[in-house]
Amino acid sequence: MHASLGHLRDIYRQESKSIIKYAPKLTFKSLYPSNIERQNVGLCLKIFDATNANALKRLNDSAYDGTIEFIQIINKWWSIMNVKSPRKGYEQLEENSKPFEKLSDDRLLFLEKCIEWIKEWKKVSISGQKKKLGKLTSETFCSFEHTTNTIKDIIIHQLQSSTNSYVLTGKYQTDPLEGRFGQYRQLCGGNYSISVEQILQAEKKLRITSLLKLHSKKYGSFHLKEFLCDFSEKEASVHTSEFDIKGVDFYNFTEEEEDLIPLYVYLSGYAVYKLKPYLQCNDCIKLLSVEKELIFELTSSAAKEYLLDVDKGKLTYPDEDIVKIFVASYKIFKFILTENEGLLHLENIRTALKKVILEKIHDLNITGICDTCQRTKEDHSQKFVSVFINIFLNNYSKLKNSSAKISKGKKRKLDIISSS
Ligand SMILES: [Zn+2]
Repeated sequence: MHASLGHLRDIYRQESKSIIKYAPKLTFKSLYPSNIERQNVGLCLKIFDATNANALKRLNDSAYDGTIEFIQIINKWWSIMNVKSPRKGYEQLEENSKPFEKLSDDRLLFLEKCIEWIKEWKKVSISGQKKKLGKLTSETFCSFEHTTNTIKDIIIHQLQSSTNSYVLTGKYQTDPLEGRFGQYRQLCGGNYSISVEQILQAEKKLRITSLLKLHSKKYGSFHLKEFLCDFSEKEASVHTSEFDIKGVDFYNFTEEEEDLIPLYVYLSGYAVYKLKPYLQCNDCIKLLSVEKELIFELTSSAAKEYLLDVDKGKLTYPDEDIVKIFVASYKIFKFILTENEGLLHLENIRTALKKVILEKIHDLNITGICDTCQRTKEDHSQKFVSVFINIFLNNYSKLKNSSAKISKGKKRKLDIISSS
């Protein structure tokens, strides 16, 4: 079995133009990092995100098994090593992010296995290949093994010897210290060896900027820095009459759209979950969601498997009509994206889009009323459409940003080559 970055690159290429994705964390930078970017933890985490493993699993090809397992191991290891809060694991339903509370914790066994695995990996040599291919450097191997071993021992020691009720592994690291020193170096012109004098000055600067916050009654407090960015030029506004959505086919799915059905269900369910606090009515929540089994009757087995992978036992399953609303919103957004992308850059695009989509939803004849508060499904659709538009626009801006970065990077390389 072997793992390959190429598998993730394949998925990324397939989805790169799409507004909703199975592997939303993958970016161009994370898959094709420059030499310096290879050291960037944030980019690396995007590779080892659990959504990537789920996206690969969905393709149902045994060729991906190695990559899936590798991502899962590293992801689990990372979560275990970074438990920083006693509540996060419980709130986000992440088994691996829960604090260590007892010696019989399965994760201790996992860490032990990890150490064995690293030792084996160190010994492996692939015949016919260079000696170091598919391996970490000896230093990385050593620190990987050492860190895992130490953290495991610390957990056991702490649980045995002290009266502490839990152990947070994320507290045993020097990251915050390192981060602060990184800031010092940046403030001194990216200098690696800085003097005591410079540290003191940099520390002063950092403290002053952290104090320079502005307070707004409506938006809470924010930094001076963010405030300054907001004076960018506003673009002209848009009118709903500019949207011509007659060409949208609401009733048939293309093959590509059909492939995304599990995502429609997942994102619609996410919206129901997000809106729960605003609904303030249990019967409304019941009206808008369904039992797991009902939705599975409607979807294919591949879709079912995907939903089971992402649901962590607590996913809210949306009512069929909510999925319909999602599909209508998605189709309209996609249509505008291909036909008249310029509209998306205009100022009040959210309001205009919302209006157009709500008009369409009215045509869909969605019925259903809450017995308690007399609000109809259609009344609720307003809020849902807002959530969906936010998802689309957010992903759209990410898409734009990443392609802008790529073209910038290419240009710079070209400049360098042509000037030399
Ligand atoms: Zn109600």
